[in-house]
Amino acid sequence: MDAIKETLKQYFGHDAFLPGQREIVEQVVKGHDALVLMPTGGGKSLTYQLPALLLPGLTLIVSPLIALMQDQVDRLQVNGLPATFVNSALNNTERTKREYDVLQGNIKLLYVAPERLANESFLHLLDIVQERVGISLMAVDEAHCVSEWGHDFRPEYRLLGRLRTRYPHMPVMALTATATGRVRDDILEQLHLRSPHFHVASFNRPNLSYEVRAKHSGSYRELVQILRSLSNEPVIIYCQSRKSVDGLSAALNSDGIQTLPYHAGLSNEQRSEHQNRFIRDDVPVLVATIAFGMGVAKPDVRAVIHYDLPASLEGYYQESGRAGRDGQPAQCILFFSYNDRFKIEYLLAKKPDEQERLIAYQQLQQVITYCEGRSCRRRTLLAYFGETLSQTNCNNCDVCHQVSVLEDHTVDAQKFLSCVARTRERFGMRYIIDVLRGANLQKIREQGHDQLSTYGIGKEKSVDEWARIVRAMLQQDLLSESSDGFHVLHLNAQSHAILKSQRRVELPLPVAIAASATASTPEIPLTPAEDGLFRQLRLLRKQFADEQHIPPYAIFSDATLYALARQRPQSRASFARLPGIGQQKLATYFEAFAEAIRRYCERYQLDTELLVDAEPTPKISADVHRIRIQGHVTQTHQQTLALLKQGLNIAEIARERNLKAATIADHIALLLEAGEQIEVQQFVPATRYQIIAAALQQVGETELRPVKDFLGDNYSYDEIRLVRIHLRSLRS
Ligand code: ADP
Ligand code: ZN
Repeated sequence: MDAIKETLKQYFGHDAFLPGQREIVEQVVKGHDALVLMPTGGGKSLTYQLPALLLPGLTLIVSPLIALMQDQVDRLQVNGLPATFVNSALNNTERTKREYDVLQGNIKLLYVAPERLANESFLHLLDIVQERVGISLMAVDEAHCVSEWGHDFRPEYRLLGRLRTRYPHMPVMALTATATGRVRDDILEQLHLRSPHFHVASFNRPNLSYEVRAKHSGSYRELVQILRSLSNEPVIIYCQSRKSVDGLSAALNSDGIQTLPYHAGLSNEQRSEHQNRFIRDDVPVLVATIAFGMGVAKPDVRAVIHYDLPASLEGYYQESGRAGRDGQPAQCILFFSYNDRFKIEYLLAKKPDEQERLIAYQQLQQVITYCEGRSCRRRTLLAYFGETLSQTNCNNCDVCHQVSVLEDHTVDAQKFLSCVARTRERFGMRYIIDVLRGANLQKIREQGHDQLSTYGIGKEKSVDEWARIVRAMLQQDLLSESSDGFHVLHLNAQSHAILKSQRRVELPLPVAIAASATASTPEIPLTPAEDGLFRQLRLLRKQFADEQHIPPYAIFSDATLYALARQRPQSRASFARLPGIGQQKLATYFEAFAEAIRRYCERYQLDTELLVDAEPTPKISADVHRIRIQGHVTQTHQQTLALLKQGLNIAEIARERNLKAATIADHIALLLEAGEQIEVQQFVPATRYQIIAAALQQVGETELRPVKDFLGDNYSYDEIRLVRIHLRSLRS
């Protein structure tokens, strides 16, 4: 392993880089400037923290908010790294002490506010640091603050360019999640970046699901339901005004959902208290105006809900982007009503400046297009940043789900209805299906229905498939059923329209798929027992966090807790291999967590040390993989394909063909590789698909074993392989 990668695991606990991180680190370590544009959650901090450890002297990090500095320093210190901050919140003694530490070379990462760098005596101190220990790097976080075109302009950022002249050899990095062209140009110019290494990441956040719901009188109930289903996971709800924040927060509290309000009308102390209680998991839900958010890096927010309409799409992207920074699935839900639109327009009309008013109207119009459009939400959002989504179906927004769950069944409906007509509207569903499928039944022959033109025209579908179609038609009132207990089918006005081809019929796909695709809550992919353990470990994490006065996520991310709950390590070696566990965390937390796991597992008779001990056998798995790819479609695969096309699932095909489910999964994998169009989500529910896809992205997809280890016992090799092949087929 090389030095960079070793440092990554040792100090940050990560086994692999997120996209772009490695290249940035390498360039910066070589002394180049860098401009890093990455969405929230992209892993920007690591791109200067890791060089800071590898470079000889001090790294200076400019950060606009005290809360943000505090958070970063907490997280670094938990990893055992020499980091500190100096800002106006410290008293003199404390500040002097920290400055002394810096001068002694005991600190590698120093966080400062931009205004401090305008302060002559601080600059003088830096001169001494430069002489004694050297300043190796300056990283300017939230660099868009330098631009008036951004949303958080901070005039003091403009002064940073001067440090370039003062320390000409010091490389400068600028980092931001705001990607518009103007802001980018401003950053380059104002910070005097010298042919920087450019990293522009995709602004797509695949782990976020997007959904727009109509806002009406029942929306409050919907909201309560959503929050209950998220059972105490962190959620931010944005409202437009202080008044609606207070109202909603109070209402939710009286419905038994613990919330705190956050808006500019509260005192500074109240605001920071509420923010802290949210960050530290004392209270799960924060109801806020957009005054909340900038500089809050809580990574485990599982949903951001806009209860009122946001004023611009960029704002919406930034606010909703506060969900799921940790890369785990999270939801972004927006409640949309015309009423809200009118309210905003009313406010805009009062803006005195004509130009400003026009821009604001335009921005609002883009939000409305996002809400009302019938194209993929993700595509619309990314288009705003000039990015084109490569897939046609993102599979993780309400529009795409609808597209994928609705199918045209006009011809089927016509076949069925005409059979009802020809049998003179005297029979129930099952009989009609038998006629359609050309069943050789005495009853049919007696009636002479084997002579009908519709006899046998529906052979290609199973009884179940027909039944599903007919039930869906009944639900949509496309034909009628007698209520006398005989369920005799009759044509109605809609049926006649369909028969005359005046009306198309679109029906949802099988319920199992539809249900998982539209499920609006992130499903925790743990068994009930594992989930219990996860919650237990969450409590333990909270205890440690409270003792140390730091947020729980600074100790372990949710991903680490999931892995602990799934793999239940008991040895130091297996504990150390989990994602997010570096040297320091291993030393500090191994015993307490291993003990908690042991006790829980004894009590519920769960196995421990899952998967982590078995050494991977990469050679074999690579060979197996190659053989699979080289295999070709034979008769047995064709038979499986035929059954797939009849809508059977893996288990059903296995039963039908008297083969193992794993064998059928192999067939499907091979068929996919051979280019057959098979809807993988027929076998892997959407939520599981997303989680596997994210794992493949995170861990890398060349070998399955690490991905399987990462996901744990709850996921099978078959599923992972299917998703991998499916993703590849989308790319090719
Ligand atoms: P940003 O500042 O771009 O929003 P952060 O630096 O806060 O992102 O990182 C987002 C999350 O990703 C954090 O929880 C961080 O611990 C995690 N992370 C960063 N780098 C890695 C990595 N290489 N592997 C796994 N997780 C990472
Ligand atoms: Zn979509």
